[in-house]
Amino acid sequence: MDGMDASVVAGEGRGLLDAPEVDEVFRRLEQNMPGRTPTAKGPKDQPDPFRSVVSCLLSAQSRDANTAAAVRGLFALAKTPDEMLTLTDEEVARAIKPCGLYNMKAKSIRRLCTALIEEHDRVVPQTREGLMSLPGIGRKCADIVLSFTFGADVIAVDTHVFRVSNRIGIVEEKTADRTAAALERRAPPWAQHDGHFWLLQFGKAVCVSRRPRCERCFLADLCRFYSATGGRVGPTQPDNETPS
Ligand code: SF4
Repeated sequence: MDGMDASVVAGEGRGLLDAPEVDEVFRRLEQNMPGRTPTAKGPKDQPDPFRSVVSCLLSAQSRDANTAAAVRGLFALAKTPDEMLTLTDEEVARAIKPCGLYNMKAKSIRRLCTALIEEHDRVVPQTREGLMSLPGIGRKCADIVLSFTFGADVIAVDTHVFRVSNRIGIVEEKTADRTAAALERRAPPWAQHDGHFWLLQFGKAVCVSRRPRCERCFLADLCRFYSATGGRVGPTQPDNETPS
């Protein structure tokens, strides 16, 4: 399930927030986790969809800093799908080594570049369906590219957004993809653009995996997990802070 363990869905069975409560959650997140979704920029300050989609592919099971190092290394060698295909898998693997799983990812990059050239006229698709038709690109990556690069109002679901939105009771879902679909329905329209950013920052700063900081949480009076457990994460619940 997209690298996320279903057993950490702490809000499961505790009931969903109603629509006004969901609205209130996002209003408080907006106030307390300010900032807008950063936009991936290309070399000339333009969004670079190809770099974004490659970056997302490389981010699987990798920490942000390692992914960034791998992307820098790779794009120092090649910047377009055609240029990438002039490299051997070994050259690509060496360049992206910091992000791990480099042999597998090198092959994925070759398949991705081939598909872009042969099926998409070298243009990264701007729809979820088009992006997900690319080898190695699932809903999370598609939504991240849609949101960060194309500026779409989409809440991409990574491990933090998955945990937080299920704990609070915004959604009650067992997979990241179902959580993304539920957030599309349940988050208010005004929160769809920056909701990912707010939930992500909140998940890193307050509602962390093993020891959520419920005592200082501005959502405690609404949170389904807190009302049911007092904020205690069960010993059988694994750490779901897996890099995504
Ligand atoms: S009360 Fe605790 S579990 Fe609920 S959102 Fe806040 S930090 Fe997370």
